[in-house]
Amino acid sequence: MEPTPSLLIVDDDISAIRVLSKVLQGLGQIRFATGGEQALRMIQEQRPDLILLDAEMPGMSGFEVCRTVKSDPLLQDVPVIFITSHTQTRVEEQGLALGAVDFIGKPVQPAIVTARVKTHLRLKMAMDRLNRLAQTDGLTGLANRRLLDEAIGREWSRARRNQGAFSLLLLDIDYFKRYNDRYGHLQGDECLIAVAHALKGCVHRSTDLVARYGGEEFVILLPDTGAEGARQMAQEVVETVQGLERVHEASEYGRVTVSVGAASLEAGVNCPARSTPPVPPETIVVALLAQADRALYQAKDGGRNTSRFVALTPPLPGEAAM
Ligand code: GH3
Ligand code: MG
Ligand code: MG
Ligand code: MG
Repeated sequence: MEPTPSLLIVDDDISAIRVLSKVLQGLGQIRFATGGEQALRMIQEQRPDLILLDAEMPGMSGFEVCRTVKSDPLLQDVPVIFITSHTQTRVEEQGLALGAVDFIGKPVQPAIVTARVKTHLRLKMAMDRLNRLAQTDGLTGLANRRLLDEAIGREWSRARRNQGAFSLLLLDIDYFKRYNDRYGHLQGDECLIAVAHALKGCVHRSTDLVARYGGEEFVILLPDTGAEGARQMAQEVVETVQGLERVHEASEYGRVTVSVGAASLEAGVNCPARSTPPVPPETIVVALLAQADRALYQAKDGGRNTSRFVALTPPLPGEAAM
């Protein structure tokens, strides 16, 4: 389902806000701010899909608000439309140079504002949809590898900053080639969807990320989770998939099972919280996945339908020993 667009109207003139809110009613959820600082606070709290910004305001001007928004990597894709009584080309040029998508003169013409806002909202929502697609696995609807790699990099930065920990589970369906051979590829696909669904049900926190790593392999990223939590989750995943009781006659277990490898990264425990130069996120992604892969192979060796944990031992690649 398409999310409802969220609009932020920023103007120091309350009556201008009233007029615009009325005109734009029905196009989305509308919030408003009467000053630059308040606007920035609200934008940080909840990222809008479109900002209608008065250029001239006492205190922080609309131009300054726009500059701040456009210099923040998390906000820079939010379209900004300037609303101003200035009709000079130079002012318009300035706004567009700052990254605004459009410029509307005061007093506002309802039909024109509505049409332009609709256009920019449609573009923004289409862009969001494309971004979501680019980060999603087509078969299972889970996050794909690209999104996972980004998320691991982010967790690494966060863990370093907060002296925190995060863990990763790498899991692989047991005897899946035999499953395909016996039941056919289509049913194989259905099995992948069922396992993906079960994994989603396993995670407890909204920040946990379940991703399809490729083929019949999945990854669960567990922010703020240390070794003990990872061990527990890994075992829970094994039991959940086994509990689906999905028949697999070519497996010694008679049903679909998974093997799970777990690895944890704890800043200040198995890796330095700070190092110069800092270990780049790509290195961490590779090191942690390699560790989880070793653990996964131990689980396969240990008879499958089970989990193993392998501690990540320092030094990390590219880093001096602790
Ligand atoms: P193990 O217990 O050691 O993991 O054995 P396995 O048979 O699961 O491992 P292997 O890596 O040999 O086989 C993986 C199989 O997964 C082979 C491939 O055809 C199948 N596979 C990969 N992606 C898909 C997919 O998208 N759909 C289906 N149906 N099968 C897939
Ligand atoms: Mg004003
Ligand atoms: Mg495999
Ligand atoms: Mg397998």
